[in-house]
Amino acid sequence: MAKYVFITGGVVSSLGKGITAASIGTLLKKRGFRVSIIKVDPYLNVDAGTMNPFQHGEVFVTDDGAETDLDLGHYERFIDESLGEQNSVTTGKIYSSVIDRERRGAYLGGTVQVIPHITNDIQDRLIRAGEDRDFVIVEIGGTVGDIEGLPFLEAIRQMSDRMGRENVIYCHVTLIPWLEAARELKTKPTQHSVQELRRIGILPHILVCRTSHPMDLDMKNKIALFCTVPPEAVIEVRDEPTIYSVPISLHRQNLDGLILRYLSIDCDIEPDLTDWSLVVDRFMNAPRSVEIALVGKYVQHKDAYLSVVEALYHAGIHHNVRVKVRSVESSDVETRGVEEMVSGVDGILIPGGFGSRGIEGKIATVRCARENGIPLLGICLGMQMMVVEFARNVCHLAGAHSEEMDPATVHPVIHRMHDQINLEKMGGTMRLGAYDCDLVPGSAAARAYGAERVSERHRHRYEFNNTYRQRLEDAGLKVSGMCTERNLVEIVELPDHPWFVGGQFHGELKSRPTRPHPLFTAFVGAAVKRSDAGK
Ligand code: GLN
Repeated sequence: MAKYVFITGGVVSSLGKGITAASIGTLLKKRGFRVSIIKVDPYLNVDAGTMNPFQHGEVFVTDDGAETDLDLGHYERFIDESLGEQNSVTTGKIYSSVIDRERRGAYLGGTVQVIPHITNDIQDRLIRAGEDRDFVIVEIGGTVGDIEGLPFLEAIRQMSDRMGRENVIYCHVTLIPWLEAARELKTKPTQHSVQELRRIGILPHILVCRTSHPMDLDMKNKIALFCTVPPEAVIEVRDEPTIYSVPISLHRQNLDGLILRYLSIDCDIEPDLTDWSLVVDRFMNAPRSVEIALVGKYVQHKDAYLSVVEALYHAGIHHNVRVKVRSVESSDVETRGVEEMVSGVDGILIPGGFGSRGIEGKIATVRCARENGIPLLGICLGMQMMVVEFARNVCHLAGAHSEEMDPATVHPVIHRMHDQINLEKMGGTMRLGAYDCDLVPGSAAARAYGAERVSERHRHRYEFNNTYRQRLEDAGLKVSGMCTERNLVEIVELPDHPWFVGGQFHGELKSRPTRPHPLFTAFVGAAVKRSDAGK
């Protein structure tokens, strides 16, 4: 039976609960345990698929096509395992399944209530997720005290009765603010948020304290006294230069050892963090840097392209260079001109996106990269715009476009998918999740992957129009990856270019710090080469 580690958050949001959960997962996995991590989001959306990246950051997609919160991306990167639909639980999902069952008569004339029906449904999901695991780590989104989080807190409170107290622990991530006027750290908000937890029956075993200044022993003792935890269970997490050093810092404070002790588990295996130390060391101390322009439409939101930026960092770590990301708003390219926006960069990445704003800026960026031999990686919408640009300016198909931008386009080189997959999702208009892609031997893509067939994750509604394939190929655009089962073009590239590769899928979702994604690795490699050559 699995043991459960519940992570709650207090005082304010954005304290890094996700990174804490992911780091605990890393440490337990490296001690040889089978670990799963679940994100619980108390919003009413059934999944994150309908959320605007401006508000909520990127939508992370799993192999099985679930559209989830970006924390699942952290979990996958940290525990180096693929997660799925069952790792993402939302209020919307719970209520719709309970109401669905009620409509089918499953409750036989009873009154359906938050307690026990909603809380049981939550617990059943957590228990199912633990069937083949030693540990399930569950992060409760939001902050303790939020109205919408209450059913989840009640459900996890009950878990300790249902699973046995020896199998469940609670870890509360909280803020110890620095008050400039008093020049000291303040513990009161933490005391209050622990009181709030206790009020609903949860006594946290461990406090993970986010702070900008070092906490001395007196402070730890004070928090321990007021919050009824031993001083060693007051863990300090200061802002780290990279998220990848958090597992190292938590292990140094014996957080994993403490969790095992609380749960009465004997384990002689110490986690081997050599690879993580190398990642951190290279991230911090790379002797040189390359600059990549990220040309997108959600660039003001720091998390909108989270996995893309992480994947660039991973590739940089591989090459032992620091990747500096220059965020370029694609509509600024339209007003200020592409040359100014990308001047001096070593490579350009055009990520995924939806809608037509800024699209001409992306097309202009593709042209600039193609004509000037600047390494370019196009992802999803980025790949589609590489096809549009090539069709317009090399094949001279005036008016070439994607049907997404203009349904009445003259040359729809990118068109709406005709045989829709995932019919149950989003009105059946999106292709979601993992599909195999066959690579053309000898192509840049095949060389990068060192494989003939790969699996990649998708989230798109439009695709390459095969009607134009011959014309585009005759003009020099090479198709180097195909989804054979659907006869769908997945990768295009230009052979006579240092690196001009676009993929219909989201490779960034599978990149890990210790296993960077092959297309990102090759792309950053090309950027390094360009920087070496003095541009
Ligand atoms: N908007 C495009 C489509 O639906 C691209 C999607 C994306 O970049 N994720 O096909």
